[in-house]
Amino acid sequence: HSTEDPMTKEQLLENDRKYVWHHMSAHNENPMIIASGEGSWVQDVDGNRYLDGMSGLWCVNVGHGRQEIAQAAAEQMMKIAYATLVQSHIPAITLAAKLNEWLNGEYRIFYSNSGSDANEVAFKIARQYHHQNGKPSKHKFISRHRAYHGNSMGALGATGQAQRKLKYEPLGVGFQHVPPPYCYRCPFGQTKGTCQLQCAKAIEDAIVWEGADSVAAVIMEPVITGGGMIVPPDEYLPMIRSICDKYEVLLIIDEVICGFGRSGEKFGHTNYGVKPDIVTMAKGLTSAYSPLSATAVAAELYESFKGQEATSHLRHINTFGGNPVSCQVALKNIEILEKENLVARSAWMGKQFKKRLKPLLLHPNVGEIRRFGSALGIELVEDRASKVPATAERVLAFITACKLKGLLIGKNGDTVPGFANILTLSPPLSSTDEDIDFIVDTLLAVFNNDK
Ligand code: PLP
Repeated sequence: HSTEDPMTKEQLLENDRKYVWHHMSAHNENPMIIASGEGSWVQDVDGNRYLDGMSGLWCVNVGHGRQEIAQAAAEQMMKIAYATLVQSHIPAITLAAKLNEWLNGEYRIFYSNSGSDANEVAFKIARQYHHQNGKPSKHKFISRHRAYHGNSMGALGATGQAQRKLKYEPLGVGFQHVPPPYCYRCPFGQTKGTCQLQCAKAIEDAIVWEGADSVAAVIMEPVITGGGMIVPPDEYLPMIRSICDKYEVLLIIDEVICGFGRSGEKFGHTNYGVKPDIVTMAKGLTSAYSPLSATAVAAELYESFKGQEATSHLRHINTFGGNPVSCQVALKNIEILEKENLVARSAWMGKQFKKRLKPLLLHPNVGEIRRFGSALGIELVEDRASKVPATAERVLAFITACKLKGLLIGKNGDTVPGFANILTLSPPLSSTDEDIDFIVDTLLAVFNNDK
């Protein structure tokens, strides 16, 4: 703990207990107070170092302590720190062009501040698009159980995890949920390979039963990440694309976590060869060095917002969205991803995990290991035969054992019996070979020592 810091460790703890409202947790009496970070490692105020196996919250894709990003932000702040997007500015334009290159298509970019914001904008755009295309009754959204799409009333409405919604309802209206493509626990009681993807068919059924004229869009992550690393069969996303086309329903792909290399490709959806109508992104867009999100809208859709009518434009504004400093940070972040080939490294790292973590499958509590790019889910069960989800205490024991050895890992969702039983790992894409060895060795040791 640096002596230059204004508070002692005790004062920090006392003031934290008194004044800071922690996210998503009952107030932790003894929180880890992070002071600095370098590469894949973070350091707390006591000088303990941890490998940041979750890249913060699935977001610090290029790793910590990138001086060149700080430099880019400082330079932009000195030029101009703020300009609105009612007009335009250079970093917003440059970044929009860059995102089009990454998306490999023609998209209009609407900037906001967070993943939740980006999804809210997507919902409004989808509804208004149908309004301005002679189908004003198309207003509903289809999402999946277990999905997470954000914390605001609409994005939480799209979220398919009851425990996050209880006590805050009613939320945004018009969100319907269908079962996820969760092959390990198929909601339709089927076996992978012979199932004919009833999970995809469920989306078609939902559209038909709700009435296609009432459905605006389907929203999904390419792979459900925070909801438990649920990797669909390869044919799933292409099937959803054709179902959407059949019923004039837009496809919104939430790339908040899967984007910017996490999936082993630039975006998650490119793994499945589909072209979304709307792509939402945040987190890895700036590697969380500065808040920024984007809603990319296919150029054909944007045509409907260009009309001469005073009412045809999108009536949405937010003060900080597309802040020039954040856009400049995103540009530098993407430059690093490109220069250091981190998208390919993500794919390679994930393959290393898959290969080297195979011995974990011998542990009686490991039901399945799932992977998308460099993101990993380890589903914990009481025993492999029953597949009964491991208890919250058991899950916490593994997380704590990793932390004691200097590795921070995560888990899915809130602590609810039968739900939060999947350990998650999503380290910086820039992790060195030694970092990867450390992650693998630590996990092997933790599971090996747990008999
Ligand atoms: N979408 C997905 C898939 C997410 O995982 C998250 C956050 O974890 C969000 C949206 C919301 O992003 P934010 O927390 O920036 O609002």
